[in-house]
Amino acid sequence: MQAEEYNRRGKELVDYISKYLGSIRERRVIPDVKPGYMKELLPDSAPVEPEDWENIFNDIERVIMPGVVHWQSPHMHAYYPSLTSWPSMLGDMLADAINCVGFTWASSPACTELETTVMDWLCKALGLPSFFLHHHPDSRGGGILQSTVSESTLVALLAARKDKILQLRAELDQEVDDSILNSRLVAYASDQAHSSVEKAGLISLVKIRFLPSDENLSLRGDTLKQAIQEDRRRGLVPFLLCSTLGTTGVCAFDKLLDIKHLGLWLHVDAAYAGSAYFCPELRWSLQGIEFSDSFVFNPSKWMMVHFDCTAFWVKDKYKLQQTFSVDPVYLRHENSHSATDFMHWQIPLSRRFRSLKLWFVMRAFGLKNLQAHIRHVGGTYFYLFFRNASTQELLRRLTRSGTMYLIPAEIHNKCIIRFTVTSQFTTADDIRKDWNIISKTAAALLAETDSLNNTQEIFDDGGVEALFCQLHLHRFVRPGHCQCVLRRTKRSFYD
Ligand SMILES: *Cc1c(COP(=O)(O)O)cnc(C)c1O
Repeated sequence: MQAEEYNRRGKELVDYISKYLGSIRERRVIPDVKPGYMKELLPDSAPVEPEDWENIFNDIERVIMPGVVHWQSPHMHAYYPSLTSWPSMLGDMLADAINCVGFTWASSPACTELETTVMDWLCKALGLPSFFLHHHPDSRGGGILQSTVSESTLVALLAARKDKILQLRAELDQEVDDSILNSRLVAYASDQAHSSVEKAGLISLVKIRFLPSDENLSLRGDTLKQAIQEDRRRGLVPFLLCSTLGTTGVCAFDKLLDIKHLGLWLHVDAAYAGSAYFCPELRWSLQGIEFSDSFVFNPSKWMMVHFDCTAFWVKDKYKLQQTFSVDPVYLRHENSHSATDFMHWQIPLSRRFRSLKLWFVMRAFGLKNLQAHIRHVGGTYFYLFFRNASTQELLRRLTRSGTMYLIPAEIHNKCIIRFTVTSQFTTADDIRKDWNIISKTAAALLAETDSLNNTQEIFDDGGVEALFCQLHLHRFVRPGHCQCVLRRTKRSFYD
């Protein structure tokens, strides 16, 4: 392909993308294919002769789309929101064209400088502490874009581990191998923490204790204190707490204020809910954030910056650098001492120009519209509580037709169905349509079972609506906001 054809085909592809997203409602959300479906549609080996673009382009609808889950569909309610937006897509288009690999400042100064600036913008816009800022007289910290929250949580664990091992070594008067010190470390998270915390423990060979959450699914300070005391008595060295603001199951919040000052590195995973902090009235769960050592959230979830884009801040960048610094001659440059080299803040060497899409989104929407977006999308997040077997059957019926996609979660042995809003195109009509299907399907299911007796047992709070489902609103929806969502849901759902 030559530049002239790229120009023409590029425009065609942009048209195809706007049509795809514009008419996405008409597609089944979940594909109707079996494992291996693609094998019949594609040859076994790559073509020897070049193919026409026309052929390649036509295979998007023939080969790819039949196997796509349409995450941008308003009827996609599974997993977690993964929103995109036009400015975000333009940002990555440009980043792909520049395709610089910004591991050091010198390898592409704009890549590093835009990232530090945009991370500072984001830090201020979310109301995070100023010790996370790159450009602030008292700060030793800063923010960096990582690929995922999973990777950032591992990075935080590795930095906290390094810090603790150095501390332990300084206290000892004999040489002890790091692996021996590593075996004494223990980290904590609640039983609601994301599986990426467990994975970070698996990778680093660090013990992680998952502590029981309370009735609000939050980790309590007294539970943590008790675990720390027990472990210290057993000769272990507590060093890290991975707390969660907005758990994956039901968006529950650990109380940071409750777990401060326990001598641990406090890492905060706000992967999904972090975007909510654009709105000052939703910052109540940030209380105690001034005691954190690292904070991470995914603009790629709710903020309409598409995947991958994970914002990660640390209070002390030197603790990251002492964990990840290597210094080969071929990567040194004359500004090594005065500039930020993000290769020392992360696991890989190479890094994309991710900040462009973030910059485009923050400028094209403005904080005002980002706040408006948060206030309108995402509040509709509820769960159906039935007996586990009924819930599973309801879920099976709802997803069989392919018109909507929901997934279950298990909370304290209770199977629930999560309903998330994962598209910026979702309208009240879309929700109403899905809600009607959910209500009818639930009603039919209940009618088939020996309903009345059962429902008395199934639902705690009885009301008429509860015959169909129990509505649990998003936990971080505070009273004022809650009412607005409730009013909206009442109108949409119960009319
Ligand atoms: C989505 C999510 C993650 C995982 O994020 P990745 O970026 O895919 O690694 C971790 N924690 C929470 C609370 C999440 O919601």
